[in-house]
Amino acid sequence: MPDRIESESRKLLGRLRAAMAESSAGQARLDRITRLIAESMGCEVCSIYLFRDPETLELCATVGLQQAAVHKTRMRLGEGLVGRTARDRTVINTANAPAERGFRYMPETGEERFSSFAGVPIQRLGEALGVLVVQSRAARVFTPDEVYALEVVAMVLAEMTELGAFTGGEGGMSPRHQRPITFRGLSGQEGAVAGRVYLHEPRVVVTNPISDDPEKELTRLHESIDLLRVQVDQLLAGTNVGDGDETAVLEAYRMFANSRSWMRRMEDDIRSGLSAEAAVEKEQSHARARMGQASDAYLRDRLHDLDDLSNRLLRILTGQGRDTGAAMPENPVLVARNIGPGELLEYGKGVLKAVVLEEGSVGSHAAIVARAWAIPLVIRSDHITTEALNGDTILVDGDQGVVHLRPDDAVRKAFEDKVAMLARAQERYAGLRDLPAQGLCGTVVSLQMNAGLMADLPSLPTSGADGVGLFRTELQFLVRNQMPKRAELSAIYARVMDAAGGRRVAFRTLDIGSDKVLSYMKPQDEPNPAMGWRAIRLGLDKPGVLRMQVQALIRAASGRPLSVMFPFIANATEFRQARAEFDKAIEREHILGHPLPASVEVGAMLETPSLAFASHSFFREVDFLSVGGNDLKQFFFAADRENEKVRRRYDTLESSFLELLYGIVARCASAGTPLSFCGEDAGRPVEAVALAAMGFRTLSMRPASIGPVKSLIRRVDLLEARRVIEASRLRGDESVRPALTEWLAKQP
Ligand code: PEP
Ligand code: MG
Repeated sequence: MPDRIESESRKLLGRLRAAMAESSAGQARLDRITRLIAESMGCEVCSIYLFRDPETLELCATVGLQQAAVHKTRMRLGEGLVGRTARDRTVINTANAPAERGFRYMPETGEERFSSFAGVPIQRLGEALGVLVVQSRAARVFTPDEVYALEVVAMVLAEMTELGAFTGGEGGMSPRHQRPITFRGLSGQEGAVAGRVYLHEPRVVVTNPISDDPEKELTRLHESIDLLRVQVDQLLAGTNVGDGDETAVLEAYRMFANSRSWMRRMEDDIRSGLSAEAAVEKEQSHARARMGQASDAYLRDRLHDLDDLSNRLLRILTGQGRDTGAAMPENPVLVARNIGPGELLEYGKGVLKAVVLEEGSVGSHAAIVARAWAIPLVIRSDHITTEALNGDTILVDGDQGVVHLRPDDAVRKAFEDKVAMLARAQERYAGLRDLPAQGLCGTVVSLQMNAGLMADLPSLPTSGADGVGLFRTELQFLVRNQMPKRAELSAIYARVMDAAGGRRVAFRTLDIGSDKVLSYMKPQDEPNPAMGWRAIRLGLDKPGVLRMQVQALIRAASGRPLSVMFPFIANATEFRQARAEFDKAIEREHILGHPLPASVEVGAMLETPSLAFASHSFFREVDFLSVGGNDLKQFFFAADRENEKVRRRYDTLESSFLELLYGIVARCASAGTPLSFCGEDAGRPVEAVALAAMGFRTLSMRPASIGPVKSLIRRVDLLEARRVIEASRLRGDESVRPALTEWLAKQP
C-alpha cells in the first residue's frame, strides 16, 4: 500500500476518533463524520445509510444531497445501488451510476447530478449494519486505494454503530438492540416459554477500533497470533493420530493460522489506522460475506475455518470469551449459533427454559437433547445471535418456530394468553393421567412413550405412559466423546428398567449412521447416508458393538423381562442374523453362569417399505413389530425427512400410505404378531386417531403428546372413525385428512 494513502487513511481515522470522543449527540456525530470523509476524499457527496429495521435502510446523514431527505429517504434491502451494496455485502464502484443495473432515482435527494458512485457495506462480523456512500460529479471510478480507505472507515463506523455512538439527538436513530424483533425459524420442539436471553458465546465487544500507534497494535497482533498457533497445535496434538480425517481438517486449520496473506491483510489494516481487534474483524467480515456467496462446499468450509480462527483470535486479543462472567438470568433461554449435545448437557436438566439456534436441524443431537428435556427449541433463527443481548426479554413459541425478542406489550399479552391456555390444557391432561386411552366404542389403545436419556425417565409416571415403546439407545453413544463401556451401558439400562417399575421398555439397538454420527467413529463419506451404511447394516457388518450392547441389555435385565428390537430391518435375513447374535449372547451368558432375563421378546422396526412385503413366515417369526413411521414415510414418498423443502410435502394420511399401513396391520393380525407405531405421527392427535382406528393398538410418542392424544381418543368412537376413513378411501380421496378432520370437528 502506498505510504501516502496509508497516512491519509490514518489522518482521517485520527479525525474520526476526535469526532467520536466529542460529547455531541448521535446525529451531530454522523453529520460531522460525513463532512470529514467528503473533505478528505475530495468528493461532493458522502452519505451514511443505516438499517432502520432488518429490511429497510434509511439515509441518516449526508453532505452533498438535500438535507431535507435525511431520515426521509428509505429503501428496501436490495433496492437501488445502496440496497444492493447492503444485500450483497460487496462494494459497488462505478463511474456511471445511472447506467448501473438497479439504479433507483430518488428525486428528494437531487442525486441525478452525480455520476460516480462508490458504496461500501458497513458491516460487523458479517452482519450488514448500513452503507457508506461517496459520489462525485466527475465520471470516474474510485481507485482501489480509495475504496480500501473507505472500507477501513466503514469498519470503524460499524464498531461505532455497535457501541451506540449514533443514537440519540434530534432525529437520530433509535439505539440498536432495543427495538422489538420477531424471528421466524423452525420448530425443533414444541412449547411456549417467556424468559431472558443467555448467550452461549457472548458477543466480543471492541471498544477501540482506531489506533494511533500501529507498532503497538502490530505487536499485539503478532503476540496473539503466536498464542493462537500454540492453541491450534495443541488441538492437533490432542487428536488421535490414526484418525486421518480429523487430522486433515485440523491441518487445514493450522495452514490458515499460518497464512501469510491473512496476516498481511491484517497488518495493512493496522498500518492504515485500525486497532488489532478491528483489523481481525474487518477480515472476518470479508470472509463471512464471501462465505454467504460461495457455492463451492470446500471453499465454504475453509472460510468457516477462517471465521472460527478469527473468533479465537478476537477472544485472545480482547480477553473476552465464554467465561465473561455474565450472570445467568432467571428463566434463561439459551441463544447460540449452534451447540453440540455435550455442551448442551453441561447446562444440566431443568436449568434452561428454551433453546434458540441460528443453525441446527430438527434431527440434530442438540435437538434430541432439547426434546428429551421437553423444552421448546427453535432452530434456523437467522441473525438472532447478532441481535440478542444477555438479559433481553425473549418469548419462544416452539409450536410455530417463532421467537419474539424485546417484544412490545401487545405481543407479550398475546403470548401470555397462549401460555395460559397451554397450562390449562396441561391441567386437563393431568386429570386424565390415570384413565385409559379408551374410545367411546370401548377399544383401548396402549399409549407408550419414546425415550433415550436418563433425563426422560421422570416423565414415565407423570405422563401416564403404559411403558416405553421406543428407547433410542444411540443417545447414550452420541452424548459421549468415546465409546461407552459395556458395564457402563448395562448400569444405565438397569436404571431405565428400574425407573419403568415393571412396565415394558422396548430397547432399540444402536441406530447410528445417517444424520447420527459418532465423533469417535470414522466418518463415512457416503453419497446418501439416510440410505447408506446405518443402523442394523452397520451392526451386522461390524458386530462388535452390537454384541457388546446386547450383552449389556441381557445383564441389565438379570431376572426381569427383556424387550429388544433391531432398527431399520429391510428383509427377513437381516432380522435372522441379528436374532442369531442375540441368541448367541444369551447362550454365552448362560455358559458364564450369569442370570438370564425372565423372558425375552425380540422384535424389528419396520422402517423400509420392503419389510411390509416380507414373507408371512417373517411376520410369524418376529416377537413384535414396531413401525418407525418417520423413516417409513420418507422412503415411501422418497422425501427426505430432514429436508425442509420436501419434509411436509406428503401427508401421512394420504390414502396410498394408509394402504401400506393397512397391509401391515392385516399381516400382523393374521400372524398374531403384536404391532405398534412409534414415529412422530403417533403423537399427533388426528394421526393417532387414524392409526388407532386402523388397528394399531400400541402407539409410542413423546411424553408431552400422551395427554393430547389420550384426550382425543377418549372423545371418539374408533369404529366410526374407521368407517369415515374407509368411505374416504372408497371415494378415491387422495388424503383422508379432510374427511377425518371434518368428522372430528363434529364430535362433542
Ligand atoms: C422412525 O424412523 O420413525 C423412528 C422411530 O426412528 P428414528 O426417528 O429414531 O429414526
Ligand atoms: Mg428410524
